[in-house]
Amino acid sequence: MDKKKIISVEHLVKHYGDFVAVKDLSFDVYEGEIFGLLGPNGAGKSTTLEIIETLREKTSGKVMVAGYDLDAQPNEIKKIIGVQLQSSGFYPGLNLLELIDLFSGLYNRKVDPWQLLDTVNLRDKAKAKVKELSGGQKQRFSIATTLINQPRIVFLDEPTTGLDPQARRNLWDLVKGIRAQGTTVIITTHYMDEAEYLCDRVAIVDSGTIIALATPDQLIDELVATGFERPREMKKANLEDVFIHLTGHSLREAEIKKS
Ligand code: ADP
Repeated sequence: MDKKKIISVEHLVKHYGDFVAVKDLSFDVYEGEIFGLLGPNGAGKSTTLEIIETLREKTSGKVMVAGYDLDAQPNEIKKIIGVQLQSSGFYPGLNLLELIDLFSGLYNRKVDPWQLLDTVNLRDKAKAKVKELSGGQKQRFSIATTLINQPRIVFLDEPTTGLDPQARRNLWDLVKGIRAQGTTVIITTHYMDEAEYLCDRVAIVDSGTIIALATPDQLIDELVATGFERPREMKKANLEDVFIHLTGHSLREAEIKKS
């Protein structure tokens, strides 16, 4: 992989009043990688991402995104990033085509809405409103909206929370597809299988500091090297395997559509 830095965060600090949510955090993200920010609730992941996304003020530290200094050129950064909105942030009266039109107008970008809907497999929902979509479809649509300005970096905050196993795997394919186009992806997740499958590197954040940063494989090898051994699994499958085996790999919403 090309190891060109696209994001560099140095000594980032964020105070909320007396509370220090982010404590001297430093990390780099390389162009074209899928980078995971992992950590318990309250660790400071969202705060960190929102600062990089220009949506939140930092207390101190230096953040560079694609060569732009966050303090000097936040508007240049806004132009080259895609940030996932929660579905509640969409105008309720508009359908998917109309929302894409609205966003492309806001970004001053011409996009083919049908092609964009194809990217996230929602062509047949073009005339639906967001509230009429399933959880997985909502997430796919909100990811589609991050792509409208053809960003170099996409930020996804827990994109698969609450989705069923098929929809989760479908989103993984979508995220890999976005990266395959050359886009850098930063993702937060509480699912370690997801981080292991998707992320080239992960940073584990706890109480506002990074306590580990490496590839998933390296982190696992380091743990094993300490003598750690997982309680031996006697069975060759788990309950998730049973679920997928019984209900299939295909998206359930696709079947609802046919009936
Ligand atoms: P994470 O995304 O890892 O769950 P957050 O960045 O959302 O963590 O929050 C980090 C800490 O900062 C938490 O303890 C949270 O309560 C606190 N926090 C987040 N936003 C605010 C805010 N606007 N005002 C005060 N405290 C906040």
